Amino acid sequence: MEPLDPEISYRALQTRDPRFDGRLFVGVTSTGIYCRPICPARTPKRENCRFFSGSAAAQAAGFRACLRCRPEIAPELPGWRGTSNTVSRALALIGDGFLDHEDGTVETLAMRVGMGARQLRRLFDQHLGVTPVAVAQSRRLLFAKQLLHDTTLSMTDVALAGGFGSVRRFNHAFRSLYHRAPGELRRATTTASSHLPATAPVVLQIPYQPPYDWDSMLQYLRARTIEGLEVVEDNGYRRSVLHEELTGTITIEHRPDRHSLMATIDFPSVRALQTIVSRIRHQFDVAADVEAITAHLSQDATLAPLIAARPGLRAPGCWDGFELAIRAVLGQQVTVTAARRLGGTLVELWGEPFPYTEDKRLRRTFPTARCLATADLGRLGMPAARRATITALAQAATSQPQLFMPGGSVEERLTRLQTIPGIGAWTAHYIALRAFREPDAFPAGDLGLLRSAKHLIGEQTKTSHLLQRAEAWRPWRAYAAQYLWTAGQ
Ligand SMILES: [Zn+2]
Repeated sequence: MEPLDPEISYRALQTRDPRFDGRLFVGVTSTGIYCRPICPARTPKRENCRFFSGSAAAQAAGFRACLRCRPEIAPELPGWRGTSNTVSRALALIGDGFLDHEDGTVETLAMRVGMGARQLRRLFDQHLGVTPVAVAQSRRLLFAKQLLHDTTLSMTDVALAGGFGSVRRFNHAFRSLYHRAPGELRRATTTASSHLPATAPVVLQIPYQPPYDWDSMLQYLRARTIEGLEVVEDNGYRRSVLHEELTGTITIEHRPDRHSLMATIDFPSVRALQTIVSRIRHQFDVAADVEAITAHLSQDATLAPLIAARPGLRAPGCWDGFELAIRAVLGQQVTVTAARRLGGTLVELWGEPFPYTEDKRLRRTFPTARCLATADLGRLGMPAARRATITALAQAATSQPQLFMPGGSVEERLTRLQTIPGIGAWTAHYIALRAFREPDAFPAGDLGLLRSAKHLIGEQTKTSHLLQRAEAWRPWRAYAAQYLWTAGQ
């Protein structure tokens, strides 16, 4: 495990330094409780402190989450800045709920990231000081704890939403960590705050490490809004969602005072809640390590002023990988506005009709891969070659359901995408950037990037020159691209 410097950690604690929130947790041996560095409680004595880089490690060491600073709503950051891509990919899969299903074992998880289970456990121990199962367990418990605090969901719903399968299993896990029943925690907090939301929809806080350039995020979404599917308003984004044959809506708003996004999730199954939150986190790039990205890219004289002008710019992800890939193909060789119009036609013709919601602007969901794989796309008003690409993509996504899920190295995934007819290097990198959340993806041949680079750098606009220049931006080339795109608007 990467040792945290105890002196720096203790100073961060004494000064309640928000920059350490999400990557430093302190276990207090005299109380058995662990806290965020920003906890309002009195700073514990130095000799009673044990420092951890993640909440899972603190819980695995037997500490319980503090009820005041609530570690479950600390910004979820890469708690370690290690170099193991395997650990990152495995963590992403655990974050997507891989180990919460019955068939999700450490063995299958290890297989997905291309190694044996023993080797994966060793890597986890080395980098995080915990087992993969402990990470998943801690994630479930913390999510359930947030639901107890912030919603009025029934205990059964909280247990199911937390991925525990039954109230009995949830009670057992909760008691062994918190030494009390989940219901007691709820009574304690319900009296403290009187205005909890009534029933569904569920409103959840999704914290980030500030700053967060919300305006640019909304601007990105607004420029690409597909009519009938999504809506962008002054401070929020709303869309219809389809997950495992069920439909619902999500609404995301910004709460800068809380350093959080607020997600209003209206969905018929509580079991899907964790997945939905994880997808929102991807789409809004909540876990970006802004501090590290800014420090690295600011060394470049061209990027430095762009970063200073837009602190906390995020690289937008997407709600769904398949949807994003289709949008990328619709955008090949046409303007953003034209792509948006094509998207509207696609949704109108092949999206699932959306049952009644209060927002009449949301009429349909995005078409499924299964539907598009066999649809006659003649009415789409696109060249035949690109229609064929959509069909091929939909067929690939149907036959390889894991095509857009984490797993495998970036190179493998880029190669696999490019075997689909009509998917070249640009589209593959664009998909890697937005859908795989690959921070080093860089669609160098992008016209907007080349235009912006020419304007700012004044160099020749050839792809090869830009690629060369971008070498210094690794491993954050996706963010450099985002800065160039945003500056070029
Ligand atoms: Zn605390």
